[in-house]
Amino acid sequence: MAIIAANLQAVRERIARAAAAAERSPDSVHLLAVSKTCDAARLRDAWQAGQRAFGENFVQEALAKAHELTHLGIEWHFIGPLQSNKTRQVAEFFAWVHSIERERIAQRLNDARPAHLPPLNVLIQINVSGEASKSGVAPGMERDLAAAIRRMPRLRLRGLMAIPEPTPDTALQRTRFALLRQLKEKLQADDSGIDTLSMGMSDDLEAAISEGATIVRVGTAIFGTRKNVKTGTRTV
Ligand SMILES: *Cc1c(COP(=O)(O)O)cnc(C)c1O
Repeated sequence: MAIIAANLQAVRERIARAAAAAERSPDSVHLLAVSKTCDAARLRDAWQAGQRAFGENFVQEALAKAHELTHLGIEWHFIGPLQSNKTRQVAEFFAWVHSIERERIAQRLNDARPAHLPPLNVLIQINVSGEASKSGVAPGMERDLAAAIRRMPRLRLRGLMAIPEPTPDTALQRTRFALLRQLKEKLQADDSGIDTLSMGMSDDLEAAISEGATIVRVGTAIFGTRKNVKTGTRTV
């Protein structure tokens, strides 16, 4: 408990410093605690230290934790690759989806979003590093997808998300985040509802904030290094 609370405090301070350096209000950057592979007790520790928004990559894992943590009023964000056979569960349970890359998946989320819930907040994932292995739409392709999503009444398009390939080169980090910012500004020109840039993780949140991130997704710096149960190696 004490470690998670201290880690959260340190991350909040990093965010505040980066925001100040970019002459932005610290309130303009929201912290999403990425809790994949963490058990419910550790999420509860973070909740007790004031954290309310949590990001999960796997639907079943998230639902199991949510079951243990009902009534805490957690805001759940889905940030992992989304398969069509999981869209109903995601539409029924999450408040946000960061990883939209196909119109068909967006349509399924729209069709499954329950009427008693507000529209599902969605972000289009952009592939800013250009590797074949990474998900997201190629820069420039987001405009057609955005137009399609705007025709879906149960989705609310809020902006863009990216997971750049990790690099210690801070100039390269900034170049990629700047590309995402420019794409967001273009989308904003024809849609005033666009207000979100989800970018920056434990190792590069400063560069992301300097380029306009409004949500940083932080796992390791809050919960510690994740272990792959089977191989014992570090994993994403
Ligand atoms: C795991 C993950 C994160 C958090 O990464 P850290 O380096 O642990 O902060 C952020 N975003 C996505 C999409 C992830 O899968």
